[in-house]
Amino acid sequence: MKLESIPEEFIRAEVVLKEIQAHGFEAYFVGGSVRDALLEKPIHDVDIATSAYPEEIKKIFSRTIDVGIEHGTVLILIGDEQYEVTTFRTESTYQDFRRPDEVTFVRSLKEDLKRRDFTINALAMTCDGEVIDLFDGMNDLKMNVICAVGNAKERFHEDALRMMRGLRFASQLDFTIEEKTLTAIQDFHSLLGKISVERIAIEFSKLLLGKNRKAGLLPFVETECYLYCPGLQTYGTALLRLADLPDRQIEHESEAWALLVYILEIEGDSVRSFLKKWKLSNQLIQTVQKLVVGLQHRLNNQWQAEVMFQLGLDVALSVEKLLFYFGGNSKLEDVQKQYAALPIHDKSELAVSGNDLLRSIQKKPGRWLGDLIEELLAAVINGQVSNEKEALLDMAHEKINKE
Ligand code: ATP
Ligand code: MG
Repeated sequence: MKLESIPEEFIRAEVVLKEIQAHGFEAYFVGGSVRDALLEKPIHDVDIATSAYPEEIKKIFSRTIDVGIEHGTVLILIGDEQYEVTTFRTESTYQDFRRPDEVTFVRSLKEDLKRRDFTINALAMTCDGEVIDLFDGMNDLKMNVICAVGNAKERFHEDALRMMRGLRFASQLDFTIEEKTLTAIQDFHSLLGKISVERIAIEFSKLLLGKNRKAGLLPFVETECYLYCPGLQTYGTALLRLADLPDRQIEHESEAWALLVYILEIEGDSVRSFLKKWKLSNQLIQTVQKLVVGLQHRLNNQWQAEVMFQLGLDVALSVEKLLFYFGGNSKLEDVQKQYAALPIHDKSELAVSGNDLLRSIQKKPGRWLGDLIEELLAAVINGQVSNEKEALLDMAHEKINKE
């Protein structure tokens, strides 16, 4: 089989393959980029595999960086471009279900493709677009099937993360998982307990963001992989509710986690501790927390100025978008307008400072000051007072005198 129109990314990388070949070695495009090109999807990174050993690659190209030389990966720099080239390798004896004890460089393409996870990821391609298909990956691509290379049980024992990868490819590509592969996931799902949370989180997040969430989530629950994911043990049924949301692809990682948290009915302080279990970054956790607060508000109310101020425009727009999943109408333009119409957009814009208030009220600093500033801020945001120093000081005095 030959790929007729070769995407630009491969054409640009052709020089690398040609140069390696000119030195008497083999070199091919491999993995996800070949799969995506055949599916006519956009390509991210072009991976190159070669029979040349890392030291040989470093002799061929003048500018290289050792990015993962123990795994056989060298980065080649040509002009402004960089290309990852990995030596054909086999991985032997996985004693801990996640990392090979030993990586052995080999000269055979077949040996290299054999250690890859799924047949659709085990395709290689020449510069001319000729596809080398040693494990029937083309047929699986055509049939929309995720199938382990060789014996699924063995493959998942070598690296249990592959089970999560299979589920996420089902969602991303809208494929089904081949029967024996699915049965093996079902039988050995508990091996996921050996895999680091961070690696599981990457795959789970990609699963949620996929084109057909349901195609990944249903087998994720059926095979009980969810039992080995942080904080999900009691949520089998709730995860099925997530699968049943209207099927529009989720756009951002934060939106995916927010929908998950909302559907699982995790609330208050538990939101943070749940997301912490997944070891997400603090920044992502903060955004998700805001999204959940916003969603809880917006599903029961119109936007209130104060909530909008607290969340900021980007989060408010995301929340508005998420209404779609609950049968709501997303009025993005209204949100833009309402946000633009807020009297101020940041606390620092308040026309009085703490010092102004202390000077004018002549009371010892204390907790009252922070509370007063919050009250004034709310009054400005809600349009009860204009954001002018004099008006705010008057209001401050009124409030203090009332106490
Ligand atoms: P993506 O589009 O998410 O990058 P990908 O298939 O390119 O998908 P990568 O993680 O970039 O995934 O890996 C590149 C290739 O390396 C895969 O296509 C597959 O052939 C192989 N691979 C990656 N991870 C594994 C694994 N855990 N077990 C076996 N092979 C793997
Ligand atoms: Mg990739």
